[in-house]
Amino acid sequence: MSASESLADAVAAVGREMQAHRGEGQVADYIPALARVDANRFGLAAITCDGEAVETGDAWVPFSIQSISKVFTLTLALERLGEGLWARVGREPSGSRFNSIVQLEAEQGVPRNPFINAGAIVVTDAVLAGRTPEVAIADIRDTLRRLSETDAIDVDKEVAASEAETGYRNFALANFMKGFGNIHGPVDDVLTTYFNQCSLRITCRQLARAGLFLANGGKDPISGEQVVSAEHARRINAIMLTCGHYDASGDFAFKVGLPGKSGVGGGILLIAPGRAAVAVWSPGLNAVGNSQVGTLALERLAARMGWSVF
Ligand code: GLN
Repeated sequence: MSASESLADAVAAVGREMQAHRGEGQVADYIPALARVDANRFGLAAITCDGEAVETGDAWVPFSIQSISKVFTLTLALERLGEGLWARVGREPSGSRFNSIVQLEAEQGVPRNPFINAGAIVVTDAVLAGRTPEVAIADIRDTLRRLSETDAIDVDKEVAASEAETGYRNFALANFMKGFGNIHGPVDDVLTTYFNQCSLRITCRQLARAGLFLANGGKDPISGEQVVSAEHARRINAIMLTCGHYDASGDFAFKVGLPGKSGVGGGILLIAPGRAAVAVWSPGLNAVGNSQVGTLALERLAARMGWSVF
């Protein structure tokens, strides 16, 4: 292991090391349509700010983006609302599960951060503002298509329906916040948008490409598009580092030392500022709801590359 190893060699080595771990963790089953995913999948893709792209395993197989979509809705909401967003959602780790309601009552319906479900629902409400769910969903999907330079990103309607059918907690969170005046649109419209954004299907290759602007001060280094201001990119990365893995965010910072965002589909988007974006996918989750093998793979890759920001 050495920090001078090439990215291609490091990704290949991590891919080989993960073979023995395939299938570890528990596939999310609280959304029934997610439970049908093959637990043995493993894919990883990395792309550098210079445009070097490497991958291993199932990097071309689409999976459910789930909570990683929250990074992109936060990006859109910050551009639409600017600093006004922070009156409606905090930027403090919650220390609670991703779908917890406990802090909301004491904190007057203002969620701790944009990555727990309550906070993400507020962000989606901001993205929706004044539009129909169809238009907002198309906006989120088209943002991902544009950033990943592919049209092959769509909502999995079966997963979206499954989320809506079993989304009791998310309905509770949204209605509770509506009671505090922190959800402006109709709850059904906000959650339709939220369930659809979580049900987008994306590959590791596409996700790493779509997140690359966050590794480069908000500017896509390949297309040249300034996706967000450098200031917003810094803030999104800070929130990914402190809140991107729910009540295991501290552990992820300890192990990997980089901003990351997980989803219950088993994906993780990792940002190595100034260097690269990485997406990993392995459906089995740990007890906190983050990809078990994905976390291990990123820990090994970041160590090999000497990427930790600390
Ligand atoms: N759609 C999922 C939910 O709302 C997203 C959760 C996650 O990926 N952590 O429960």
